[in-house]
Amino acid sequence: MKNITLNTGAKMPMLGFGVFKISDTSTIHAALEAGYRSIDTASAYDNEELVGAAIRESGIPRDELFVTTKLSNTGQREGRAETELEESLKRLGLDYVDLYLMHWPVPETYVNSWLAMEKHFKSGRAKAIGISNFEPRHIAEIKKQWSVVPAMNQIELHPRLTQKPLLELCKAETIAPQSWSPLGGGKDFSFKEQLFANETLVSLAKKYGKTPAQIILRWNIDLGIVAIPKSSTPARIQENIDIFDFELTPAEVAAIDALNQDHRTGPNPEDFHHNF
Ligand code: NAD
Repeated sequence: MKNITLNTGAKMPMLGFGVFKISDTSTIHAALEAGYRSIDTASAYDNEELVGAAIRESGIPRDELFVTTKLSNTGQREGRAETELEESLKRLGLDYVDLYLMHWPVPETYVNSWLAMEKHFKSGRAKAIGISNFEPRHIAEIKKQWSVVPAMNQIELHPRLTQKPLLELCKAETIAPQSWSPLGGGKDFSFKEQLFANETLVSLAKKYGKTPAQIILRWNIDLGIVAIPKSSTPARIQENIDIFDFELTPAEVAAIDALNQDHRTGPNPEDFHHNF
């Protein structure tokens, strides 16, 4: 496993386990047994209790785990930006989270929500705080008032959506990038099938004796991007973490970058009211 150092100084595993739609502890156990030490959940995923139970059952010391959860859009709308973390911690059975993200920039509230999240950071209940689905204009807006720079921006990112301008901005602001739906997401099966059949990815997979999914995840690591793939199949959970015994060359990284089509599989943050 490789780690990234956040702007707080904390280390975070570069590959984590995303648990959107995971509804049984056995899947989380499979991930912990495979060596994942970072788990990405959210209040909106409705499975924080499950994550907490799996962590306790695993017996893995708390300080060896990196737990992320997120402030929900509903929580922001209902004025619970200051209190929802406490509910999440109760469900998780934890005293603190390693990273607390604002799930989406809810247009009416995201600036105030960021100020509330800074309080969580200062109280120690969130060891780091960050944002998700923030576009440059959202970052510029909170920057006018922030006293804590977000440690991370979690965004949709895969070879068909490489997000270069946003990555540049995040780098300049010391905000670490993290990719959601790194394998193209679970909604559009044919999109994922076409992506995995791409010639560049298939030939790199052959060269390294890996799968196209592993090549995509390694591309994230070589770009310095934290990835949180999700799978409920133990063999794929294992496959997705088995990417730390090879490295892509800069030319290979660039060849995958060139697959960009600015194609989103998930909601566009600029179209928030239409999507949520
Ligand atoms: P993903 O890209 O990680 O996975 C897509 C699908 O690929 C999954 O349904 C899985 O069945 C399949 N898959 C996994 N490993 C595979 C492999 N090795 N070979 C072939 N198929 C494989 O998509 P995701 O679940 O949408 O995203 C991952 C995580 O990102 C989520 O679980 C969640 O934690 C996070 N997320 C965050 C946001 C946000 O708004 N912040 C949005 C979506 C997802």
